[in-house]
Amino acid sequence: PEHLVSERFSDLTPHERANRMVDNNVRHAGEVLLGPVPEDAGLNKAAAMMPAQIVTAIEDSGLRGCGGAGFTTGRKWRFAAGERAERRFILCNADEGEPGTFKDRVLLSERPHLLIEGMTIAARAVGASEGILYLRGEYVYLRELVEQVLEERRRRGLLGKDILGVRGFDFDIRLQLGAGAYICGEEGALISSCEGLPGEPKTRPPFPVNRGYLGHPTVVNNVETFCHAARILDRGAGWFHAMGTEGSHGTKLFSICGDCLNPGIYELPYGHSVREILEMAGGQDAAAVQVGGPSGAMIARDSFHRKLTFDDLATGGAIIVFNGERNILEIVEYYMSFFVHESCGYCTPCRVGNVFLQKAIGKFRKGLANPEDIEYLKELSGTIIETSRCGLGMTSPNPILTTLKNFPLVYSALTKPNKDGIRDTFDIQSA
Ligand code: SF4
Repeated sequence: PEHLVSERFSDLTPHERANRMVDNNVRHAGEVLLGPVPEDAGLNKAAAMMPAQIVTAIEDSGLRGCGGAGFTTGRKWRFAAGERAERRFILCNADEGEPGTFKDRVLLSERPHLLIEGMTIAARAVGASEGILYLRGEYVYLRELVEQVLEERRRRGLLGKDILGVRGFDFDIRLQLGAGAYICGEEGALISSCEGLPGEPKTRPPFPVNRGYLGHPTVVNNVETFCHAARILDRGAGWFHAMGTEGSHGTKLFSICGDCLNPGIYELPYGHSVREILEMAGGQDAAAVQVGGPSGAMIARDSFHRKLTFDDLATGGAIIVFNGERNILEIVEYYMSFFVHESCGYCTPCRVGNVFLQKAIGKFRKGLANPEDIEYLKELSGTIIETSRCGLGMTSPNPILTTLKNFPLVYSALTKPNKDGIRDTFDIQSA
């Protein structure tokens, strides 16, 4: 998809182009990943450690995967390392597609060396010699930059054979470009896509750490997770573990957008409240906030005191701010149209059920819904969650379920005519 690169960037170098794409859109601030990072300090330490020591350090840090499932990263690496296999793979999921999430593109643009460093450390830990960086199709403008970084690291002995002079520490990475499918951010679908198959999730077990890419043990982590792993090896597991809260260790990159004055990427330790985050981003007028993107939860003002933990943000780190003039059901309908569009179609509950949910929301918007339709939304949502094969179907009803819970008046008011007999729209403020 070369056409995605705007012509006005054609005279710029890959570095300039990547930075321009970021600067035009977002502000960013943070210390651990976005502050000054010493070059390859983590990799230098990892090269002097035994692989098992690296795995233990990652386990002790409490790092969890930032790509959706939230599995403990150290355990994932330990499982892959423990498999008897000739070949092992490291896959980086850079297929960032959750609406409202744009943190990985900032890391790819500004910290590409840190990302590759983290992948190389993972390779040392599990004994992998081959890696794939799966780049979101819409981020094609970053391809040249990433290729340059890979080439530079090969020249400097940081990729290839005997990395940093350590005999047998061999690892290299190839870049693979996605083609615009959200579902390829799911690790099974991502592996299928890398194998040249349609991007459909795989049935588990076996899990990728046991039999993943081409049937070999495979570690799949996302961009943010690998970057954290590199910093942990540099600063130590205790340093990372001490940040954040019980069960949510370290820092998180928030992608903040919507009705706020200062949208952008902000890196904060876990444990800040929604209100604090809104104040930082100039979103004090918010009437609703979508936490974790459409797969997460829409919360109302009475929950803004809540401190955000890992589980609130497992689906990416998006904070989408809505002011009181927004039509909440219009937002929900839009999210459902996204899931309908992105469903891979393999299983019926997700392929068909989400269409029914979208139509039911349309019924509310047109003022044609009955009180029983609220029960219908809940029951169908439950069925889709329980019977879908992958995370897309298991989270797609969340926009409906969380707004039913947190904005019940939006729905109940639309099951009967208002005083003017008009039942078309209903904004958050009125709720
Ligand atoms: Fe495909 Fe949806 Fe089933 Fe996942 S839940 S496998 S996206 S149809």
